[in-house]
Amino acid sequence: MKYAAVQNCIGGAFVSPDAPLLDVYDPSVGAVISRVPLSGAREVDAAVRAARGALTAWAGTPIKERVQVLYRYRTLLNRHIDELAALVTEENGKIASEARAEVLKAAELTEFACSLPQIVTGEVLEVSRGVECRVEHFPVGVVTAITPFNFPNMVPNWSIPNAIALGNCMILKPSELVPLSANRIASLLKEAGLPDGVLQVVHGGQEVVEALCDHSGIAAVSFVGSTRIARVVYRRATGNLKRCLALGGAKNHLIVMPDADREMAAANIVASMSGCAGQRCMAASIMIAVSGTDHVIARLAEVARAMVPGADVGPVISAAALERITRYIDEAEAAGATVVVDGRHATVPGKEGGYFIGPTIIDHVTPDMRIAQDEVFGPVLAIVRATNVGEAMAIENASPYGNAASVFTESGGVARYVMEHANAGMVGVNVGVPVPREPFSFGGWNDSRFGVGDITGRGSIGFWTQAKKMTTKWNREAGINWMS
Ligand code: NAD
Repeated sequence: MKYAAVQNCIGGAFVSPDAPLLDVYDPSVGAVISRVPLSGAREVDAAVRAARGALTAWAGTPIKERVQVLYRYRTLLNRHIDELAALVTEENGKIASEARAEVLKAAELTEFACSLPQIVTGEVLEVSRGVECRVEHFPVGVVTAITPFNFPNMVPNWSIPNAIALGNCMILKPSELVPLSANRIASLLKEAGLPDGVLQVVHGGQEVVEALCDHSGIAAVSFVGSTRIARVVYRRATGNLKRCLALGGAKNHLIVMPDADREMAAANIVASMSGCAGQRCMAASIMIAVSGTDHVIARLAEVARAMVPGADVGPVISAAALERITRYIDEAEAAGATVVVDGRHATVPGKEGGYFIGPTIIDHVTPDMRIAQDEVFGPVLAIVRATNVGEAMAIENASPYGNAASVFTESGGVARYVMEHANAGMVGVNVGVPVPREPFSFGGWNDSRFGVGDITGRGSIGFWTQAKKMTTKWNREAGINWMS
């Protein structure tokens, strides 16, 4: 095995818990590369103790000093980008350029956290003669980030830099499918000078998550993953009276109008549906083709057909995921849809054990088919036909999810109509993956997010802090009024 069993990081030390171990796979070859411990409530309790032990000093450190660690961390992310990207490729399967982009994004997220001292300045006003009100943002306490498999480096960095810059201590619970990047993040933060106890990493699955939701020493739970688990986590954490932000799955609709720029639309749509093997919560999943767009469909089929599994598209995460995705395609075909580009049974020479599926485009899908409703989470694009933009928006609006939607058009009026009427938190115009970049924040609507606020950018500040409202009077000569 290439890597020794993964350890937890508690109080700045890497330790092996007395816990059962689960195999960690390299999905591009289907081989075991490490083992991850399935920790439990005992390890969570140790992590909370370490975090609480560090909290007073860290929360009491001025924010400008706290972010000095993050400036150094960002430098380390850039310095080690090749190694960090290789680790992402190894445990998640992403092709090299995608893994590199993920680490670059982690650096950008850290840059935002470095700018927080400029952004979280408080407010002050003389509210009555001689009486001053001020608002300051205080840390929440010990907080968590529970993260999914699809971005082993970036998603932990959605939460860690902002949460710790704002004075919290954190417990990261990475996906048990991709535990290696998380420990490297912890070791780089330690190298950057993060005091012991400010960040813990506890590996495992359901048992750890439940213990995090239940532990009375934890004040806030952030979660990113599927809608099914987001619901469970949100209910359990808020049931324990914690604040919780739980981001879920997605079903993103791209509306293509007849006036869309053919080349731009085809390139963007294929990149969106096949990038990271379709395992992005922002991936295009359904294209709604408004009448007169056959030329765009023909071009995007050409672009998709030219993509080579193993070179342009990485594997999906597991044999089970490959089987699930293939089943969705088989089922849609059996229900009468047309498989225009077929990525099933893809093989990559030398990587026969890998979980590969090529880009797949299925036309004449109807909104009632399962493939049009469920999150498939693979490089699969279902095309549903509509006669006008109103009909297209009705299909989009009917989805219980609400992460992203996009329109390809040259018409400002149509673009504005879609921006206003999309039932989603992130909307694009002529953009296949409408991810807002910092300082703008990331977060969907409906079943794609439970809780208030966003996970990154300015929209996350409210989640990672609590506002203290202070009213003071020092000048006796201001006289007496009802306030003092
Ligand atoms: P997942 O829900 O299976 O796992 C997410 C986390 O929950 C992991 O850490 C996992 O260990 C834990 N978990 C799994 N089962 C659990 C259970 N029964 N009880 C408690 N915790 C449990 O998600 P995944 O498969 O790792 O990631 C893919 C999903 O994440 C997709 O649905 C994708 O859309 C979503 N995602 C959403 C966003 C977003 O911003 N909305 C971003 C990335 C990924």
